[in-house]
Amino acid sequence: MSRTPTSRYWSAVVGALTPYVPGEQPRLANLVKLNTNENPYGPSPRVLEALRSEVGDTLRLYPDPNSDRLRAAIAAYHAVSADQVFIGNGSDEVLAHAFLALLKHERPVFFPDITYSFYPVYCGLYGIAHREIPLDDAFQIRVDDYLSPNGGVIFPNPNAPTGRLLALGEIERLLAANRDSVVVLDEAYVDFGGASAVPLVARHPQLLVTRTLSKSHALAGLRVGYAIGQAPLVEALDRVKDSFNSYPLDRFAQAGALASIEDHAYFESICARVVATRTRLVGAMEGLGFEVLPSAANFVFARHPAHDGAALAARLRERSIIVRHFKNPARIAPFLRITVGTDAQCDALLEALQALCGKR
Ligand code: PMP
Repeated sequence: MSRTPTSRYWSAVVGALTPYVPGEQPRLANLVKLNTNENPYGPSPRVLEALRSEVGDTLRLYPDPNSDRLRAAIAAYHAVSADQVFIGNGSDEVLAHAFLALLKHERPVFFPDITYSFYPVYCGLYGIAHREIPLDDAFQIRVDDYLSPNGGVIFPNPNAPTGRLLALGEIERLLAANRDSVVVLDEAYVDFGGASAVPLVARHPQLLVTRTLSKSHALAGLRVGYAIGQAPLVEALDRVKDSFNSYPLDRFAQAGALASIEDHAYFESICARVVATRTRLVGAMEGLGFEVLPSAANFVFARHPAHDGAALAARLRERSIIVRHFKNPARIAPFLRITVGTDAQCDALLEALQALCGKR
C-alpha cells in the first residue's frame, strides 16, 4: 500500500486521513465540461442583482450567523417551520456536521458501497465506524439490507454516481423499520426527477433531508446547502456549527440564495431544460450501444460493452470533453459519469462518442 508522505509536524489524525478528491476544474477555454454535475445554465438574473446590491460598506460587518431571512424562505418553500431548517456552506458542510452530530455512535453507520465518496472521508475524519452495503446487480439500493441495528443510515436519493432513484415507498419502509438511529437522505439531485422526502419529516423524528443549491439552482460557486429535519436534529447541527464556525454563509451567499429560492419560475425552467436534454442524451447514447442506468439526476452513468471506461474518458479528453471516471470499486470501472450539459455540449459529446464507438 502506498502511503502519502507525512510530516513530523502533522497530527496523527491528519496523517491517517484519505481526503476526498473533487472533480477537476481545468482552466482551459472551449472545454466541454461534463465532469462535476454543475448546471450548464447560469443562475437566476435576480441572484446576480441581489449579489450586486450586497457590494458596499456593510461588508465590514459580520453576516447574520443564522441566515434567518434565508432560513425563513427555505422553510416557506418546503412548508416547514424555521426551526426545522439548518443552513451550511454547501451541503458538504451540512453533511460533515450531520456525521459528527448524528451519525457517530458505537454501531457502524450504513451506506452503499457505490455512493458519494465523501461519506467514508467524513468517517475517517471523525473516527466513525461504517459498513458499506453492496448495491444489487442493477446498481439499486436494497432496503432490506439496511434493517439490522446500525448507528445511522445515509445515502443520496437519487444515488450518485449511479443516478438511480429509490421510490418514496421504499424510504418509508426503511423509516418504519429504523426508528432508533438517524436516516440522512442526501437530496443533492432530487430536483431533476425525484419526489422529495421532506414531507415525511413531520412523521419521522429520525429523518434528516439534505439539499443543495449547487445543482438545480446553478449556484455551485456560492456554496449553499441546507438540511430539513425536526427541531432536535437541527439543534444538534447548530451545536456543531457553533463549535466550528458561527458564520458559515457570507453576505453574498445569503443574499444570492434567498433570491434564488424566491425565483421559482426560473429554477423550474432550468431544471426542465436539463431533464429534456437528459432524455435526448440517453436515447442517443443507447443508439450508440451504451447501457445507460435510469437516471433521475443531472448526470447519466453509462458503459459501452465494447469500450473500456478509462480509455474512453481519455479519448474524450483529447477532444476537450471532460467526463468523470472512477477506477474504484472495480464494478463501476467500465462506467462513465456524464453531466447533462446544454444541448450544444451534449451534441459535441455525442459526435465524439459516435466517432469513438459508432459502427464503422
Ligand atoms: N451530495 C452529493 C451526492 C454530491 O454529489 C455532492 C456534490 N459533490 C454534494 C452532496 C455536495 O454538494 P455541495 O457541497 O456543492 O452542496
